[in-house]
Amino acid sequence: MDFKEIIQETYLKTDKISNKGTLATYIPQLAKVNSKSFGVYISTIDNLNFGIGDCYQKFSIQSISKVLSLSLAYKILGEKIWERLGVEPSGTAFNSLVQLETDNGIPRNPFINAGAIVISDILLSNLENPKEDFLTFVRNIANNSELNYSSKIAASEKEVGFRNIALCNFIKSFGNIKNKPSDVLDFYFDLCSLEMNCKELSEVFLFLANEGNSVTNKSILTKSQSKRINALMQTCGFYDESGEFSFKVGLPGKSGVGGGIIAIHPGKYSIAVWSPKLNTKGNSYKGMKFLEEFTTRSELSIF
Ligand code: GLN
Repeated sequence: MDFKEIIQETYLKTDKISNKGTLATYIPQLAKVNSKSFGVYISTIDNLNFGIGDCYQKFSIQSISKVLSLSLAYKILGEKIWERLGVEPSGTAFNSLVQLETDNGIPRNPFINAGAIVISDILLSNLENPKEDFLTFVRNIANNSELNYSSKIAASEKEVGFRNIALCNFIKSFGNIKNKPSDVLDFYFDLCSLEMNCKELSEVFLFLANEGNSVTNKSILTKSQSKRINALMQTCGFYDESGEFSFKVGLPGKSGVGGGIIAIHPGKYSIAVWSPKLNTKGNSYKGMKFLEEFTTRSELSIF
């Protein structure tokens, strides 16, 4: 399979599409990025590494980090975490509050904000130095000490994070947040502020294509945990557009409002795409188009 050629052709074709998306202006710092940026990078199990466009430019990975915080919580506590949140697609927007009322403060899954806030709470309770320890975990996955948070992005989001503040307090009222809401939210905003370029993103996520093992053969998760996280990305990674992504792309994936998408082909590769303008569901407009065309041309998906 000549992934290189397919990526080049797909990139050129997708680059020509008129972009109907808009920047995530609700976080002031995210409104400042160059909306024309477009990068792609693939890392394969058999060691092909190839990128195109703005693949070396750092961006805010936002909700993509929810997969990494879930991975760390899962690694530490195992199946116990599912006492605090579910594994069902929510069919609602990433920042929705509505289901929490009837679900008694148990978020439907770890990838909507409510679920990621509960995971942040779990990590706060279980890590000695949560901010440092999480960063160490992420850096160790791909042996990359360059990875870091952006304090600017975290502060920018904190200033306007009224919905997340509401979510955290609402969940706390049901007893499903154990720490102080302001501490949980500070940590959640830090997690969302992680920055990576497409190359780094695809390298970090390759462990999910490799049965939970990093390229240097470190065990990050067990085979079963890795399978389950892929399953959650497949069913919940794009909020109320998860069905659409599954239908058109056919891979587990996760998006973020910084315009990044990571997609995994278990046993084969991880691919990162970045284009900051988002569709109405909060997922990268061009990123979705690119991946649809990519799996169509390569005729490879998990189905
Ligand atoms: N930090 C963002 C928020 O909480 C993450 C959302 C996203 O990337 N979908 O609103």
